Amino acid sequence: SVTVKPRLKALGQQLEEWAHRGLDQHLRVGITGLSGAGKTAFITALVHQLLNAERDHLPMWEVLAQGRWLGAQRARQPDLTLAPFDYDAAMSCLLAESPSWPPSTRGISEIRLALRYRPGRGLRRQFKESVTLYLDLVDYPGEWLLDLPMLAQDYDQWSEQAWARLTHPTWRQSSEAWCEKVRGLSSSDDADVARCAEHYGQLLGQLRQQGATLLQPGRALLPGELAGTPVLAFFPLPPECDNEALRALMTERFDAYCEQVVKPFYRHHFARFDRQVVLVDCLTPLNQGRAPVEQMGMALKGVLDSFRYGPGSLLRRLFKPQIDKLLFAATKADHVSVDQHPNLLKLTQSLMGDAQRQIRFAGGEVETMVLSAVRASEQGQVDDGRGPIPVIRGHRLDGQPLMRFPGEVPGALPPAEFWQGQGFDFVPLAPPKGTLPLPHMRMDHLLQWLLGDKLR
Ligand code: GDP
Repeated sequence: SVTVKPRLKALGQQLEEWAHRGLDQHLRVGITGLSGAGKTAFITALVHQLLNAERDHLPMWEVLAQGRWLGAQRARQPDLTLAPFDYDAAMSCLLAESPSWPPSTRGISEIRLALRYRPGRGLRRQFKESVTLYLDLVDYPGEWLLDLPMLAQDYDQWSEQAWARLTHPTWRQSSEAWCEKVRGLSSSDDADVARCAEHYGQLLGQLRQQGATLLQPGRALLPGELAGTPVLAFFPLPPECDNEALRALMTERFDAYCEQVVKPFYRHHFARFDRQVVLVDCLTPLNQGRAPVEQMGMALKGVLDSFRYGPGSLLRRLFKPQIDKLLFAATKADHVSVDQHPNLLKLTQSLMGDAQRQIRFAGGEVETMVLSAVRASEQGQVDDGRGPIPVIRGHRLDGQPLMRFPGEVPGALPPAEFWQGQGFDFVPLAPPKGTLPLPHMRMDHLLQWLLGDKLR
């Protein structure tokens, strides 16, 4: 019995340790949105709020309000092959003497935090005083999700659609020169094709600037580590093109792209997300006009397709995704006065259309929210003699002070006349100077929605 006792004790310890380890949890959250939507700013702000969580600053976050929050720490990231999300560099941009916004997302990256809290009830409470939730945030371009429909197409189908989009009157002026070049391609010479592919990437970038969002392949815009590789060297051909060798080459690369780029992204990353935040910037397309807003709506529906995986759908058959909560967050809400937030929410929902309802039907929990990751303005009122009107105060990107009535946000896609009349004019704001923790709008609501049930 002398030898048995310590062994039993050791076994007991081990069991307890296992039990504890079993109680620790993991949550993998994907953060996406089209380029410029605000992913980098959002992830930086989210990590910052978690590392510096203060009750008064995040009043709606329960675990904090209930005094059960113990703190957050950076932890070593689990995937050694993914680029780390550069939080420190992003924070030093925001905290600089003249603050600037951190550089935007170009590819996929990841950051892990260990969140410690005291359980509020249940088994966990009895077992242990504190529990750790490992939170992985994975940043990736929303453009990559727009490639999903390509998996259900062959090259000829894709090419026909993509060509029709390029030659649509809205974009024809920009795309004409490139289309002429492709019409003139007489061979399938590697150098000619590579040049055309490079110009195609540039054309997509240019169309993106003009507000086009349905641009494929997504990696031609944001190639990440694939820049300049042959797997990206394909593009649509005019339907009348009878250059068989060229068509065969395009088909081969299109297939390789689907198999070696799109599918691995869904398999290795998308299928492992437990939750997903999609950031939506409605304000920039509103500045640009009706076509960009419509494009944005279409792109948003395209993005939604990746989350509509009913039984038998392509996604479910191929990758078995497991996302249980999906949030669409209308970002940069600090650009408009608070009384416009309900309309901003309505506009986002109306752009998503029916798709939102269909996701709900498929069993996932979907939410839309208006927020500002980093609040760069103060709300105020001025009286011009006819009564008070809401204004925002902040600084322009060049540092000049700014005070303005930012205008009314429509609750749905407005008619074309709207842009001929008053239109919209949201001015980009410089990050706030010298206030810590960083000011925000509704990041506490977001934390409650994203983590509340995991921190009970
Ligand atoms: P990404 O391409 O999705 O990574 O987008 P970024 O995070 O780089 O954001 C693009 C730009 O949007 C930034 O440079 C800022 O000008 C602006 N922005 C993003 N988030 C906010 C915000 O919360 N408030 C304000 N005022 N501007 C923001």
